[in-house]
Amino acid sequence: MRYFPLFVDLKGRKVLVVGGGEQALRKVRLLLKTEARIELIASDLHPELTDFAIGGNLAWIGREFSPAHLDGAAFVFVAAKDEINAQVSSEAHKRDILVNVVDEADLSSAIVPAIVDRDPLVIAVGTEGEAPVLAQGIRSSLEAELPPFLGALTKAAGALRGRVAKALPAGGVRREFWRRYFFGSIRDAFLRGSEEFDSEVSLALQDGTQRRSGRVSLVGAGPGDPELLTLKAHRKLQEADVIVYDRLIGPTILEYARRDAERIAVGKTPGKPSIHQEQINEILIREAKAGRHVVRLKGGDPYVFGRGGEEQAALEAEGIPVDVVPGITAALGCAAAIGLPLTQRRRNQSLTILTGASEDGLPEYDWRALARSGQALAIYMGVGTAGHFQARLLNAGIDASTPVTLVENGTLAQERVFDTAIGELQRTVKAHKVTGPAMIYIGLSREKSAKLLPFSTMKAAS
Ligand code: SAH
Repeated sequence: MRYFPLFVDLKGRKVLVVGGGEQALRKVRLLLKTEARIELIASDLHPELTDFAIGGNLAWIGREFSPAHLDGAAFVFVAAKDEINAQVSSEAHKRDILVNVVDEADLSSAIVPAIVDRDPLVIAVGTEGEAPVLAQGIRSSLEAELPPFLGALTKAAGALRGRVAKALPAGGVRREFWRRYFFGSIRDAFLRGSEEFDSEVSLALQDGTQRRSGRVSLVGAGPGDPELLTLKAHRKLQEADVIVYDRLIGPTILEYARRDAERIAVGKTPGKPSIHQEQINEILIREAKAGRHVVRLKGGDPYVFGRGGEEQAALEAEGIPVDVVPGITAALGCAAAIGLPLTQRRRNQSLTILTGASEDGLPEYDWRALARSGQALAIYMGVGTAGHFQARLLNAGIDASTPVTLVENGTLAQERVFDTAIGELQRTVKAHKVTGPAMIYIGLSREKSAKLLPFSTMKAAS
């Protein structure tokens, strides 16, 4: 490490900026976040710099650089013509004043990192000038991960520190409080306003002095591609003590979980003897009652064919707090992944989501309503009953050529897509041995040439 990262207190100190263009402006904007005294040397000023000078935010002290301008400066930024850059750099080096010449690592004794600003939380990313694009990329992902309110939350933490230190012993208990503060319920309460924040802080301090209580987050993980996890789901995975997950959750998603979180698989494979819903509920209740934060991770969205409502009711009946994080449901995620619009003007104005599975035999619907032109269907868990859907819909008068799109393992590396027609659905499932989780879309099509009939000329249901 040749360059040492350092946070310098610039309050009341002089910083010299040489140059009046766009690049100097960028540095001035950064400096204005501090309480430094900014002095500027430039022959011409960018209009925004002129505004800063008029507003008294900086002092425009001259047009031409002379070495005396460096007197008393903590630091100097240079973004001027080449000869001036070289001159200022050499004078600054002589006086041992740190100097940064924009885009000229050789002339600089200090470089400016990529900055994520959630004041007082500040993150600086640097590559010793080797790869600014990489630093910017890392900065962007940190920006996305750190919500803007984090600065205010951090400031409020500073104000609380004394109270927490008095109330809670140092070590695990206090750490747990701060974990809840920055990553859990206190952070959530902070967003809801100061009253809720205050009461959640008091509650957490109480919990810290007593035994802490567990809770369960029902979290949707999306259709499979880990990049389709929401930021909130990602955060919950980082906070969890225990993760209870389904068969639909692939190993790549679990890589986003905290390393030392315990993992419990409760996959239900259709047609195989497996763990019952009651047993899953028991596990969730047991873990939460042991005081742990349980993340119940589900494929897609917890409330769409995910029995999220049942688990929630069972937990709440035991007095266990539950929160729900939505996920991208398979019907939406798989369609977007393959370029299949779910609504399209003049084709379908509604989309019905259905399950192909049923506790008691084959599912039954109002088939004539479903078979009507202008309908679109998205069927979950329908591979095993594809023949049943085909027969019932044909019988109800659907056109045999109505397009069908089948997506198996959507958004994952092993994704397979089949475009077919309702008259061929069962044959397609058999021919390609579709066995993975699959969405069946009826009445939608990826083909640009798909019949886009105006509603008035569509075949009415008989
Ligand atoms: N809660 C989930 C659905 C669970 S039911 C959600 O909101 O998506 C399980 C069914 O979801 C599967 O049988 C299949 O129809 C569908 N499914 C889930 N993930 C899928 C994927 N990656 N590709 C295709 N279908 C998927």
